[in-house]
Amino acid sequence: DFTISLPKNRNDELGDLADSISQLASDLNYLKLERNDFLASISHELRTPLTYIKGYADIIHKRNLSNEDRDKYLNIIHEEANRLSDLIKDLFDLAKMDKNSFIIQKKAIDLTDFITKIEQKFSPAFHEKEMDFEVVCPEGVYIMADPIRLEQIIFNLLDNAIKYSPSGGKTILAVSSKKKDVSIKVRDNGKGIPEEDLPYILNRFYRVDKSRTRSLGGTGLGLAIVKELVLAHGGTISVKSKEGIGTEFELVFKGADSIENDTIS
Ligand code: ADP
Repeated sequence: DFTISLPKNRNDELGDLADSISQLASDLNYLKLERNDFLASISHELRTPLTYIKGYADIIHKRNLSNEDRDKYLNIIHEEANRLSDLIKDLFDLAKMDKNSFIIQKKAIDLTDFITKIEQKFSPAFHEKEMDFEVVCPEGVYIMADPIRLEQIIFNLLDNAIKYSPSGGKTILAVSSKKKDVSIKVRDNGKGIPEEDLPYILNRFYRVDKSRTRSLGGTGLGLAIVKELVLAHGGTISVKSKEGIGTEFELVFKGADSIENDTIS
């Protein structure tokens, strides 16, 4: 641990400095704990699919199985291998974001076009779960963003809205603009997030229901990636939720005047 001893008789300036240093030491200790937790989570998350893969591969190898059982176990191996590759991709993305070596190529985006494309891409997934998907977007709203990353942000939020809602639910993707700010909301009427979990929901590997969410196929990193990407765009993210009622994520970005007037940065 980082500890620091301070002189007893201090004048005010020295006192302030000492207080700042104490705060820094306590922040560093907190970061150290956080990093240890993160590493423990990574090793757990990597080990679990590997255990399945190894276990089922052994069974296939050693036992005389019916074709049906063999196919079933091969499917599990395939799913777990996919989970591993998703996890590694997400971890790799986050590591790049942490090192600031993540390239964001901003350009002016016409949100009407963008949201229409998202609607087309996502409608089948909502349809498959018999959910309604409504999109609201006024004309003439622009932001400066990396279109691939913006799509990744919205994808993760919509994917969660589907995963954590029962069939028959409804999700709204709504864009609005107020003065210079552009708000993008994703609202569902799914299972919601308990109040005590809400402050941690954007943290890496944080899940409300650890056992059940595994079967839904997420990595536990989706919202952490959303948060990093939104911050990298200079935006903000907030979440409101009520258990059993639904969840609303709101992203706020600085608006751009129009495609012509903005320079690409
Ligand atoms: P996961 O891969 O587990 O979905 P995320 O980082 O995307 O990881 O989300 C973290 C946790 O937040 C989820 O496991 C779930 O418990 C909760 N969550 C996220 N989005 C929603 C939502 N729209 N409704 C209810 N719970 C949600």
